[in-house]
Amino acid sequence: MPPACVNGGGAATRVQLGVSAQLGQPVSIEGVARHALDCWRPRRGEALTVEDAAGRGFRARILEYDDAHAVLLPFEELERAPESPVRIEVYQALPQRERFELILQKLTEIGVARIVPFESSRSITQQERDVGQKKSHRWPEVVLKAAKQCRRGMIPELLAFHSWDAALYEAHHADLRFFFYEGSATWSLREALNGERPRRLALMVGPEGGFSADEFTEMRALDMLPVSLGPRILRTETAAIVGAAIVQHVLGDLY
Ligand code: SAH
Repeated sequence: MPPACVNGGGAATRVQLGVSAQLGQPVSIEGVARHALDCWRPRRGEALTVEDAAGRGFRARILEYDDAHAVLLPFEELERAPESPVRIEVYQALPQRERFELILQKLTEIGVARIVPFESSRSITQQERDVGQKKSHRWPEVVLKAAKQCRRGMIPELLAFHSWDAALYEAHHADLRFFFYEGSATWSLREALNGERPRRLALMVGPEGGFSADEFTEMRALDMLPVSLGPRILRTETAAIVGAAIVQHVLGDLY
């Protein structure tokens, strides 16, 4: 069963024009491209990032958008592809308060492909988190807004809140798997990335209280590498943001 995606994000949100785009020439879209456009919940007049048949990125304005059809006007060609060549997945032990929203926003800007909140022995559960104020319903909106604002060509996938086991199961499908660990006897991120060319890279980030010894053992048993982010203890949101940014710098498009 595919993992439950709560925001309709992922590759299906890339708006592909299907023709070779020319600046100032309107393109009418339908079918799959039209479906991708719907994922952005755009308004007429809004500008989005799209790709043409040659794989070039464009900014395009929505001239018409109604039930029957949609017409886009490419008005600027992008010098660089808006999406990273490396697929970064961040598995984040659910933190408290507004921290997770900050993480969602910043990871979207940094260009990760997938974000998965999960429960660990020292994290809070989504129920605990939602007591009083039900904030989790805002998460998809935070990701969508950030994706538009930073002009991404794709909305990152936000998966449903995962149990510890389900998060490990998902993450272990990646061809390179790290967990950020502040204890000793770990690899530095630079060493861990040295010479690697993963298609899919999973990063696990612990909660405010860190991973437990049992969790450490379980992740090691799944061949996940404990990786350090330097000599200082970072807050969980800092670890997620800094870790994703360094990976994007070494392997991706942030340089
Ligand atoms: N156990 C710690 C704090 C955990 S920090 C304590 O309370 O003393 C929260 C999470 O951020 C950790 O689980 C880890 O995933 C990550 N993290 C923070 N600082 C880190 C560092 N220097 N190296 C690697 N990971 C770090």
